[in-house]
Amino acid sequence: MSGIYIHIPFCKQACHYCDFHFSTTMGKKEAMVNALCRELELRKDEFSNIVVETIYFGGGTPSVLQTSEIEQLIAAVREHYDVMANPEITLEANPDDLSEEKIIQLAASPINRLSIGIQSFFEEDLKLMNRAHNALEAEKSLQLASEYFDNISIDLIYGMPNMTLERWKRNIDKALGFGIPHISSYALTVEPKTALAKFVEDGLIIPATDEETQEHFNLLNEILISAGFDCYEISNFGKPGYYSKNNSAYWQQKKYIGIGPSAHSFDGVRRGWNINNNPKYIKSIEQGLVPMEVEVLSKTDNYNEYIMTGLRTIWGVSLTRIATEFGPKYQEYALLQADKYIEEHLLFVDGDDILKTTKKGMFLADGIAADLFMLNLR
Ligand code: SF4
Repeated sequence: MSGIYIHIPFCKQACHYCDFHFSTTMGKKEAMVNALCRELELRKDEFSNIVVETIYFGGGTPSVLQTSEIEQLIAAVREHYDVMANPEITLEANPDDLSEEKIIQLAASPINRLSIGIQSFFEEDLKLMNRAHNALEAEKSLQLASEYFDNISIDLIYGMPNMTLERWKRNIDKALGFGIPHISSYALTVEPKTALAKFVEDGLIIPATDEETQEHFNLLNEILISAGFDCYEISNFGKPGYYSKNNSAYWQQKKYIGIGPSAHSFDGVRRGWNINNNPKYIKSIEQGLVPMEVEVLSKTDNYNEYIMTGLRTIWGVSLTRIATEFGPKYQEYALLQADKYIEEHLLFVDGDDILKTTKKGMFLADGIAADLFMLNLR
């Protein structure tokens, strides 16, 4: 599995919690689309023997693009890359962009999966986050989208200040009412230099406690699993057949090319990241240079990434693969560090080989993984 990620670095307004790369000035939209097409061309040799199986428009807010601009980008991918017959093509979209006219246009385009940034169905949460949409638009966009698309994912945020367990449950129930097959759900985190961080610092907002956040996750897990979803990654729940192919490839450390400012790439050995400045990105691409910094991952980096991504998913990590790919020392170390978590029923070994988090351990996967990281064997 290999994919192309295209970052659309524009948003109508800044959500209070967000530290992604975007600009609220749309003036350079056309120049940006042309630069993205040009970057696709400049980097075509990186995938010369690789078939593209997924195309993902992320952001920022890709739905601020005209459908014709999205089609222009897909045409550029098809022109320069070998794309499989029926690739998964996902567009992240915000509810306020999804008029019926836009949804009809998108449904007629090659986009076959929508990922809608609902975040919450409640006005007070949306206001607190400074989302561009309101509660009515959240429901209306989802209703309309489900009339035209079968493969829909929505984002929901939990662990918000003042969010009772009861309101969180109503959010999940509302989402299920639309019959969608995939939900991505993240805990609200207070990222440095965001408006939310300032509110917290000034005492205007008191963040949810770790216990409250974990209760929200547990409830989400319980309800969605009873509704037929699999928690296939700590933040991703899908019905069978509806796991995100793009994200699964990323977690399974497959190759991907990230196009656009701030986009990341991985070729199996090296990780690259593009400059996160729109004017500088456009200028450099216009001069025929991809403004990317590259880091060659060491064996230890690769091991750590494998542990981190694996323990967050239902696929876990293979102890045999650790021994063959990284060496017996790494396997011994992983097992030694895993021991106490196995005793606490947070990790278990499935079928003598696959180390996985238990249902209880999944929420704590990042902390457990950090404890299994190798630090000094470069
Ligand atoms: S719409 Fe998404 S990318 Fe844009 S500011 Fe909000 S959270 Fe960030």
